Amino acid sequence: MNENILVAIAWPYANADIHVGNITGSHLPGDIVARYHRLRGNKVLMVSGSDSHGTAITIKADQKGLTPHEIYSYYHPRFIELFQRLGISYDLFTSTHTENHFSIAQKVFLTLLENGFLKRDISKQWYSPSQERFLPDRYVEGTCYICGAEGTRSDQCEKCGHELEAEKLINPRSKVDGSTPILKETEHFFLDLSTLEPRIQEFLKEREDYWRPNVLRQSLGTIQSVGLKPTSITRDLEWGIPVPLDDWQGKCLYVWFEAVMGYLSSTVEWSDLNDNPIAWRDWWTNQQAKSFYFIGKDNITFHAVTWPAELLGMGADFDRRMESFDPQPLVLPYDVPANEFMNLEGKKISGSHNWAVWGLDALDRYDSDALRYYLTTSMPEARDTDWDWEEFFQRNNNELVATWGNLVNRVLGFTAKHADGVVPDIGDATSPARDAFVEQVAGLVAELTDHMEHNQLRKSMGALRDLWAAGNAFWNAEEPWKLADDPEARAIVISTALHHLRLLAILGAPVLPDTSPRVLAALGIDDLPPWPTDVAAAYAALPPGTGIEVPSVLFAKIEPEQVAAWSDRFGCGDDA
Ligand SMILES: [Zn+2]
Repeated sequence: MNENILVAIAWPYANADIHVGNITGSHLPGDIVARYHRLRGNKVLMVSGSDSHGTAITIKADQKGLTPHEIYSYYHPRFIELFQRLGISYDLFTSTHTENHFSIAQKVFLTLLENGFLKRDISKQWYSPSQERFLPDRYVEGTCYICGAEGTRSDQCEKCGHELEAEKLINPRSKVDGSTPILKETEHFFLDLSTLEPRIQEFLKEREDYWRPNVLRQSLGTIQSVGLKPTSITRDLEWGIPVPLDDWQGKCLYVWFEAVMGYLSSTVEWSDLNDNPIAWRDWWTNQQAKSFYFIGKDNITFHAVTWPAELLGMGADFDRRMESFDPQPLVLPYDVPANEFMNLEGKKISGSHNWAVWGLDALDRYDSDALRYYLTTSMPEARDTDWDWEEFFQRNNNELVATWGNLVNRVLGFTAKHADGVVPDIGDATSPARDAFVEQVAGLVAELTDHMEHNQLRKSMGALRDLWAAGNAFWNAEEPWKLADDPEARAIVISTALHHLRLLAILGAPVLPDTSPRVLAALGIDDLPPWPTDVAAAYAALPPGTGIEVPSVLFAKIEPEQVAAWSDRFGCGDDA
């Protein structure tokens, strides 16, 4: 049965270029999973956008002497350029700075307010006496009151990952001028998470048996140990989405409260762009639809607790506010497969310290499939991983060039020379070696498919490599070049190997979307066939007599000197 799949990918802040850690953390796994589900015939929508609000943007603007809008307008097109060149196949990559997003976010706010989940409260906020203004969370840093980390932001600790209550920060300092801020009263709205807690717990428990341990620990584990308190969702800030109420001028929705709504607003925008204004409901009110949120571990709470709380609090009333004929509750996240971090040669990637491999720079130097492949083999799914230059070129040279690329060239080159350049007609003929090979392949395809179904992309690369190696082993063992006197036996080997190339090009397409279609084109196939479910049938899929071609070089070898020359100059892409 075909499924409706929403691939929701973390919204990058439009205040810095995207580096390999961001790519392997969210955009690439989301893209691979989206491509996989499209091959399965599922109805996939893949969305994200630039997070253009909040103090991450205003701080950068202050540093540069520009407006927040100018900062967002510089980075947003660079994100789109990167995704296009890297083959990240968004159906829509928009931003939070659109009329549509403002309208949806304000609708969400009003729905939650009407349903009684938003409470007004006077709270204390850091205020700068020297600047005579409230300081947003990111403008204040100090010591984390949970783990003791120094220099932590007041809203979230980068060390322990916890969201923080800003006013509890120890030894606060203003990042603007280093002065000590004071706590001053201000009125804000709070999302009443304590009232929603039993429903959030129930939602998480229903997913306990398949969510990643780290995600459960930071969501269900936190609730069970310390519970949920109301969380403030407005800020004293001009840049952002205004609170849609009279007498609330100068206050806007907290960036995290509204940014997660982007998953919803972008599907509405996509629907409008496609002249089908209710299409978004296929993913949001069809309770069978599955939504996958690809994010980094620093954003788990917002996706596994805050966003589900907003959805639960709205019930069917958001859909009603959208004037739907038959209002339904919105679909809760099916999975939040958050990734850990990728470091760079053992040190944490840092844009501001110029310790990063920037996506656009890397694409100027290396092929997109080479980058995608390496980043998938090193995807930080269960623990932090490391970008390692030696491993990058070794994997490219030994696995893409010498194993997969070589298999393609050997088989197609031999067919061109010794089989008239066409797929041989072998009828129902087979051999014990072919039967054993197809059986071995079927086992590996089942393994690969299982990993893809469970978003275990790094493991899936192991199965793909085994399939490449199995193809080479079959070809080496059968030695078709020694079968000139036995044309039937030779035809069986060639036919099997050609079909193996077709199968591997399909299975590899989610990770290698640039080169896989070229392998298929060499076999006379223009459109990507569906993901194979019957492996035996896949070895009889090519019409006999189909002309084949030998493609030009699929994967370029990377010389170690090329890597050494560049790895001395990290971070040359950012304007920082
Ligand atoms: Zn901490």
